Amino acid sequence: MRTQRQVIDYSLQRRAVLRDVRSGRVTALEVCDASPYLRNAATYHGEPTDERCPICRRDNLTLVHYVYGEELKQSAGQARKLAELPVLAMTLREFQVFVVEVCRSCAWNHLIERYVLGRDGLPELDEDAPRASQSGEGRR
Ligand SMILES: [Zn+2]
Repeated sequence: MRTQRQVIDYSLQRRAVLRDVRSGRVTALEVCDASPYLRNAATYHGEPTDERCPICRRDNLTLVHYVYGEELKQSAGQARKLAELPVLAMTLREFQVFVVEVCRSCAWNHLIERYVLGRDGLPELDEDAPRASQSGEGRR
């Protein structure tokens, strides 16, 4: 998405959790704790993926996109379909997106990424702004 910025990737944390499950330090039961709300969000607003669940390997993972930000008012904290995000990004100045992967079979879930979207991320169109490229360094 064009206005995507401040991306934070959680794949290291995810890998650490999966390592703990495989080594037996953490039980699958402890990490497969998706709430009924999250499972519902996966069913109704989720984005299907081709990736198998790393815990049960029975089902493919579903991505749920949660949106946060003052401009969202009452809908802050709600799950949105991926297709709705570009529309929001053009309407609002700034909001946060949290991407959570969920397995609908075993309830494994983990935050995988968060980023900021919104019109504030578009390049400046201000013609009066000084441009570094025109005042070239070597011309002094
Ligand atoms: Zn699973």
